[in-house]
Amino acid sequence: MADAPTTLIIIGASGDLTRRLLLPGLGSLLAVEPEREVVVVGADRDEMSQEDWGSTIRAAFAEAQTPKESVDRVVGRARYDRTDALDEGQLRELVASVEGDLVIYFALPPQVTVQVCALLEKIPLPDGTMLAMEKPFGHDLRTAVELNRQATRVVPENQIFRIDHFLGVNTVLNLLGLRFANRIFQPLWSADHIERVDIFYDESLALEGRAGYYDRAGALIDMTQSHLLQVLSMFAMESPASMDADELQSLKSQVLRATSLWGEDPTTATRRARYTAGHVGGKDVPDYVAEEGVEPANKTETLSEVVLEVRNQRWKGVPFVLRSGKALGDQRKEIVVTFKAPSHIPDGLRDSGQPDRLVLELKPGAVTLDISINAEGDPLDLEQKELTATLGQPRMRPYGEVLAGILDRNPMLSIRGDTAEQMWRLVEPVLAAWKADEVPLEEYVAGSSGPEGWGTVPQR
Ligand code: NDP
Repeated sequence: MADAPTTLIIIGASGDLTRRLLLPGLGSLLAVEPEREVVVVGADRDEMSQEDWGSTIRAAFAEAQTPKESVDRVVGRARYDRTDALDEGQLRELVASVEGDLVIYFALPPQVTVQVCALLEKIPLPDGTMLAMEKPFGHDLRTAVELNRQATRVVPENQIFRIDHFLGVNTVLNLLGLRFANRIFQPLWSADHIERVDIFYDESLALEGRAGYYDRAGALIDMTQSHLLQVLSMFAMESPASMDADELQSLKSQVLRATSLWGEDPTTATRRARYTAGHVGGKDVPDYVAEEGVEPANKTETLSEVVLEVRNQRWKGVPFVLRSGKALGDQRKEIVVTFKAPSHIPDGLRDSGQPDRLVLELKPGAVTLDISINAEGDPLDLEQKELTATLGQPRMRPYGEVLAGILDRNPMLSIRGDTAEQMWRLVEPVLAAWKADEVPLEEYVAGSSGPEGWGTVPQR
C-alpha cells in the first residue's frame, strides 16, 4: 500500500522516554505540520487499554499544543499492542500487523534493544523498515561494534537512525548557519586565530530520582561521550558543499577520527568530581552518595572535564575542553571560543587585557561577541563589551526535529554507526583510568561552581 501513512511502532511505550520526550516531540512536529500522517502503535509489556493509550497521546500532545484535528486523527488511528518484545512470536505478530512504511522505535532499556534486534533478524520486515535507536549505543567500543553489526543484519545502515536529540536543538543546528553563512567567521575558524574552545553543559539539576540510570552512567557517559562530542564535531568539521545528510555525517565522523585526548594521557587530560550536600536555587540537595539508589562504591562522577585535541591541519594545538555536571550553581550551557591576542597592540593603546571571545549559548540561545572597545572616557582606554544577538524560538521540540528526520528518511540528525564507535574509542581510556583510580575523584559542594582550578589546560 504505497499511500498508507508511516507506522511508528514504539516499543517501550509505557516508559519515561515515550511519555516525557517522544510523544510530546511528535506532538510538536504535528503542531508545525498538522497534515502529516502517522500511525502510532504503542507496544510494551504492560497491560494498557486502547483508551488509556489514546489518553497518553492526548496528554503529551496537549503539552505541545498540537491542533485538535491532528490529535483526533492520530488518536483515531493509534493502537496499543501488549507485547513482550523478547517473545519472538509476539514480536512477529506486532510487525506483521503493519501496512505501509514502518519505523520501529526502541524506547527500551539498552540491553533489551540488543536482544530485540537479534530477534528482528529472524522476522520478515516490510521493505525500507527503519530502526530508531536511543543512546547509549553499546556500553563500550566492543559492544557498540556488536550492536552495529547486529542492527545492520536487520536493515542497511542508511535505515538505522541513532538518536541524539541534541542534534535537533536549534542552537546546535545554528552552528551550521553561523559558521558557513557568515564570512567574518570563516577565516577565523582555525588554530591560527583560536586559542581554545570550551564546551560547557553545567546543570543546576541534581539527581532528581534518576539514580537507576545515572549512577551507572555518570557525567562522562551521560553528556560528554554522547552530546558534547556531537557538538564538538559540528563545531570543528570542514565546510560541506550542501546540507546533504551523508556529507554532513562524513564530515562529523572525520573530525572524531582525528580527535584524541590532549597529550594522550587520561590522567592529565581529565578530571572528575562528585557533589556533596548543599543548596541549589534555594533547595537543599543531599550528598550525592546519600541519594536514594546510589551505590557509593560505583564512585560515579557528577562532574567531568575532558581536554581533547583535533589533530588535523585546521585545529592542531587548540585544546577543546568539554565539561558537564550536575547540581552546579550556574546553569552554563554554552560554547566559548577564545581568540588569540592580536599580534601587536600599538604602544599607547590601553587594552582591556581580556581576549576576544565568541559565546554560543546552547540554552536558551544567543550569540555574544566580547570585544575590546572604548566605552567611555579616554578614547585610548579600552574595555570589553558584549554584542549580543538572540536566537528565535525553536520551531518545534528537539525530539520533533529528530522524528521529522526519521519519518522523512533524512539521516541528517542521526549518528552514523562508525561515529558511535569513535565516540566510545575516545572515552574508553578515560573510563579505564578512572576505574583504576588513576584520576582522583574530587568533591564540590552542590550549588557551587565546582572544584577550584578546573579548565586549566595541562602542559604536554
Ligand atoms: P524506561 O525504563 O522508563 O522504559 C522502558 C520501557 O520498556 C518500560 O516500559 C519497560 O517495561 C519496557 N520494556 C522492557 N522490556 C520490554 C520488553 N521485553 N518488551 C516490551 N517492553 C519492554 O526507560 P526510558 O524510557 O527512560 O529509556 C528508554 C531508552 O531511552 C533507553 O535506551 C534510554 O537510555 C534512552 N533515553 C532515555 C531518556 C530519558 O530521559 N528517559 C533520555 C535519552 C535517552 P517494564 O517497566 O515492564 O520493564
